[in-house]
Amino acid sequence: MYRLARRFARAEATRNGRFIVAASFRVGIGYDIHRLAEDRRLILGGVTIDYPLGLVGHSDGDVVLHAVTDALLGAAGLPDIGDLFPDTDQAYKDIDSSKLLADAIAKVAEAGFAPNNIDLVVHAEKPKLSEHKQAIAASLAALTGLNISEVSVKAKTNEGLGPLGHADGIACTASVSIIRSNGD
Ligand code: MG
Repeated sequence: MYRLARRFARAEATRNGRFIVAASFRVGIGYDIHRLAEDRRLILGGVTIDYPLGLVGHSDGDVVLHAVTDALLGAAGLPDIGDLFPDTDQAYKDIDSSKLLADAIAKVAEAGFAPNNIDLVVHAEKPKLSEHKQAIAASLAALTGLNISEVSVKAKTNEGLGPLGHADGIACTASVSIIRSNGD
């Protein structure tokens, strides 16, 4: 990966006549939270998880994909998920959030970047996610074109504190790096 970054950095230097490392590699952060309720499917990172409650949202409520999408868009300096896919637009009602992520990846590609790695934390008191982390990482890798070794999924409880600690909802904090993909 480091060699790849250096290659793109050199390409950038050739084109612009100066050496710009920072322009070739960028980082973004995303956060999302949704309430848990009955009569909803629980979908995290594109993976359906067997649980009596699911996340409420205009879309499918997938907090993991929403946080990752926002982190990607932020890294590229693009408008955020709420601006691009407003919850007042019926086109996004109950939409599979992987479609929003694919759309964001296309916009990031237009801006000249590709996903490089994902690191995220799911904040969930219930259900216990330890047995689902690998499946979520594999799903994210497939959706973003990354290797599974470039995707990290961590799950944390909120130690019983506050609404998250009372299992009223699930949140996700994601960090995503992107690398210049049109350097040559
Ligand atoms: Mg959301």
